[in-house]
Amino acid sequence: MEVIRAKTAGFCMGVILALHKLDALVEAGGSGGGIFTLGPIIHNPQVLSAYERKGVRTVPAPEDLPSGSTAVIRAHGVPRGVEHRLLARGVTVVDATCPKVKKAQLLIREQTLSGRTLLLYGEEKHPEVKGLLSYAASGALLFETREQLSRMMLDPGKRYCLAAQTTQEKEIFEAVADDLIRCRRCDVIVLRTICDTTRERQEEAVRIARTVDFMIVVGGFESGNTRRIAQVVSAQGTPCLHVETAGDLPMEEIRRYGKIGLTGGASTPKGLIDEIQRILSSRNGAPVAGPPPRRDHAASEGGVP
Ligand code: SF4
Repeated sequence: MEVIRAKTAGFCMGVILALHKLDALVEAGGSGGGIFTLGPIIHNPQVLSAYERKGVRTVPAPEDLPSGSTAVIRAHGVPRGVEHRLLARGVTVVDATCPKVKKAQLLIREQTLSGRTLLLYGEEKHPEVKGLLSYAASGALLFETREQLSRMMLDPGKRYCLAAQTTQEKEIFEAVADDLIRCRRCDVIVLRTICDTTRERQEEAVRIARTVDFMIVVGGFESGNTRRIAQVVSAQGTPCLHVETAGDLPMEEIRRYGKIGLTGGASTPKGLIDEIQRILSSRNGAPVAGPPPRRDHAASEGGVP
C-alpha cells in the first residue's frame, strides 16, 4: 500500500509555542499552587491525558482557579479582561495566546476604537471567537456563513470592519469581503486575520486527495481545524476518514485501497501520525482493535471547536 503523507501534517507554530510554554512550566514546577489551563490547551485528548499525568489540570473558568496557582492561557486566547480577573485572584498568568490570534485581537481593537462595528466570520461557540468579539469596542455582528451575513441588515451610515476567526476558509472570506464592498457598497475595512497555516494544510490535503483512493485525517474529534480538513477533502469526492488514533483505523476496508493520503490537524502530535503511517505502510499490519470508525466526522458534526 502506498502512503502519501502531507508535509504540513502536525502541530502548527501557535500550538508548538503554547506547548513549549506549558512544558517549561511543568519542568519548573509552576508557582507551587498547581498548574492549570483555562480550557483544554489543545483539542487532542491524547496530549491532554499526557499533561494530566504530569499534574496539569484543566478548568473552564477563571473563578475555578485557586489563589497561588499558575494559569496558562491557551493558543486560542481569552476574552479581554480575563487576565486581569486572574491576576486579581492572585493567579500567576502565562499567556500562550498564538501571536497570530493576538494580532487579530489587537487589530480588531484598533479599528473598532475609531467607531467601526466589527463583522466577524466565525463559529459562535469557539473560544477564539468569544475572545475576538470581546475586543470589539463599538459593537459586533457575528456570522457563520456567507448567506447569514447576506440576510443581515447593515446600516449604510455606519462604518464597519470585517475580520475572521483565524481558521476559517479564505475563499469564503474573500467572497464575503467582495459582497460587502462591491455589492452592498459598505464602508468597510478588511482585516485579513485568517492564518495561512490553515489554508496551506487544506490546500495540500486537497492536492493529495485528488491523487489517492482514500484519505485519512488524523486529529482530535473536537478539533475544528482537523474537521475542516476532512470536510474539504470530502468535498473533492475522495472517500475520507477522520481518526484520532491508530485504534480507529478500519484495516480490513483500508487494505482494499492501493494509494492512501495521510494528513493531520494543527493540534495532532507527530507521533500519532507516524504510528498510523507505519501501520499503513506495513503490508502485514494486523487489523487494529478499537472503537468503530467515525467516518467523515467533520462533515457530520458541523463547526463546533
Ligand atoms: S492555526 Fe494559526 S492562528 Fe491558530 S494557533 Fe496555529 S498558527 Fe496560530
